[in-house]
Amino acid sequence: MKKIVVLTGAGMSAESGLKTFRESDGLWEEYNIEEVCTPEALRKKPALVLEFYNKRREQLLQASPNQGHLDLVKLEKNYDVQIITQNVDNLHEQAGSTKVLHLHGELMKARSTGDESLIYDLDKDNYTIKIGDRCEKGYQLRPHIVFFGEAVPMIEKAADICSTADILVIIGTSMNVYPAAGLLGFAPAGIPIYFIDPHPNISEKDDLDLHIIADKAGSGVAKMIDELI
Ligand code: NAD
Repeated sequence: MKKIVVLTGAGMSAESGLKTFRESDGLWEEYNIEEVCTPEALRKKPALVLEFYNKRREQLLQASPNQGHLDLVKLEKNYDVQIITQNVDNLHEQAGSTKVLHLHGELMKARSTGDESLIYDLDKDNYTIKIGDRCEKGYQLRPHIVFFGEAVPMIEKAADICSTADILVIIGTSMNVYPAAGLLGFAPAGIPIYFIDPHPNISEKDDLDLHIIADKAGSGVAKMIDELI
């Protein structure tokens, strides 16, 4: 089976009701991004950061996968599909995708601030993290999210996966957030690259076999599948 590597960004989940950064004019769901998504913020204003992510989880619990997520699952009949997502939601998993790597962490998990190997699942009955919630070693819990300025532990694994792709698909990302945006550079030269985004931010270079589908994920993934199968 040929291997399709799919890189997804915030636009993948936009039609599920989760806002992208671009739509937010520097404010993300009424919060200043720098004030809530950095290690400094967690140190200085932990209650604000925890509240922000508690609200993101509450919102995710109301959301469902959109047609784009569902169509990516259909591709698994004909291809070995590996998804690498910048999204912290779990909508790919909810849709039924079997291989999903989260580059920027997972909203529905909590992690110890003192031992990063201690990671706990959250669920609909227990989705908040509060000051005073502790791991088994007694350290405060934090969201299992890669904040701006923190290392991206999964990036090497993601680069390895990209280097083995037969086809690369990029959906709903402004290609502005590094190191995720750099993953394109690890794809083998000359492979087909599909880019699905209503405002595709990629330049047509002569050496790229680029197929741009200037459409939303909800309808664009189906168009790509029509071309591939
Ligand atoms: P971004 O906000 O910078 O870019 C979003 C892209 O999605 C834009 O290019 C836009 O044109 C496109 N888009 C908008 N609606 C779309 C649709 N219906 N279908 C397809 N594409 C659509 O987001 P980014 O590049 O992913 O980077 C921002 C960071 O934001 C990431 O690190 C990510 O972790 C985080 N983020 C995650 C979520 C989530 O988990 N759902 C939501 C917002 C932001």
